[in-house]
Amino acid sequence: MATFSKKIQKLGVYTSGGDAPGMNAALRAVVRAAIGQNLEVVGIMQGYVGMIENHIEAIDQRFVANIIQRGGTVIKTGRSTEFTKPEGRAKAAANLKAHGVDAMVCIGGDGSFRGAHALWEEHQIPIVGVPGTIDNDIFGSDKTIGFDTAVNTALEAIDRIRDTAASHDRLFIVEVMGRNSGFIASAVGLAGGAEEIFAPESLTTVDKAVDRIKDGIARGKTSSILVTAEGQKPGRAYDLADAIRKKTGWDAKVCILGHQQRGGSPTAADRILASRMGAAAVDSLLKGHCDIMIGTEGEKLIEVPLDIVTKNEKKAHLDLISLASVLAT
Ligand code: ADP
Repeated sequence: MATFSKKIQKLGVYTSGGDAPGMNAALRAVVRAAIGQNLEVVGIMQGYVGMIENHIEAIDQRFVANIIQRGGTVIKTGRSTEFTKPEGRAKAAANLKAHGVDAMVCIGGDGSFRGAHALWEEHQIPIVGVPGTIDNDIFGSDKTIGFDTAVNTALEAIDRIRDTAASHDRLFIVEVMGRNSGFIASAVGLAGGAEEIFAPESLTTVDKAVDRIKDGIARGKTSSILVTAEGQKPGRAYDLADAIRKKTGWDAKVCILGHQQRGGSPTAADRILASRMGAAAVDSLLKGHCDIMIGTEGEKLIEVPLDIVTKNEKKAHLDLISLASVLAT
């Protein structure tokens, strides 16, 4: 783990990459924990976009009042191509220096942490990351902020769909987020009682799903739900419906949950996780630790070097996916 010895007086905080419910709760925790330790805090608006465009403002305890329950992020998030180049990062570093920012907390995902790591390596700006992404696909942390909320949002939709599926004897294919990782699909599929789960990690095929549904019909089952993670673009559920129609003649109904999974009020679990991680990030910086992410291992908070976080992949466990199939009898 990297360390630094400079005493921190002014702390910067930003949210970056895809937004996730609970980012506001993490921001609130960072700001209040830091001010509690007599630090000044500045918010960098819209992630690396604001860092390059010098959109940096002082924030206090009142700025983060009444946001713990709100989805999205009140300091905005963003994506910046300019920041991926050394010249863009030099501009950002010069702005931070001009504002007297001594250290920062980055609330974001994998890409945001790559940027944070580069800022430390090239400009020695100490940063601690807090994992905020609905996908839960950050190596080094069992949980990420926003995942629990996204799963519960998708689950509410599935429960409603189940009502209509059961009333009309229908097959539904529900598409959830998770292009590169099946955490949402496997959790939602198991908790929602799906027959089969199509996730990047799963080995399920259309043939297997059809066989399972036929088995169910033979046992008197009249409706079924398949859960799929989106493909390269949303719409994979339509491809599956077409393949099933061609094979069986069944008319599968498709429901793509899309961006509603990103929004909404964070669950208690996400607010608690965000509050703990935000405060821990400030503690780590005050100890002189940096170039790390705060992660969870079971109930414990841990520090993981950003280099390890960004160079490794975390994949959803196949056991949830196979358990869903076993139980959907
Ligand atoms: P997330 O943080 O949710 O994974 P992105 O992958 O979009 O979201 O990353 C957010 C931002 O982080 C990007 O727009 C870019 O500015 C910065 N970033 C991503 N990858 C790198 C990289 N390899 N080097 C420097 N900056 C990066």
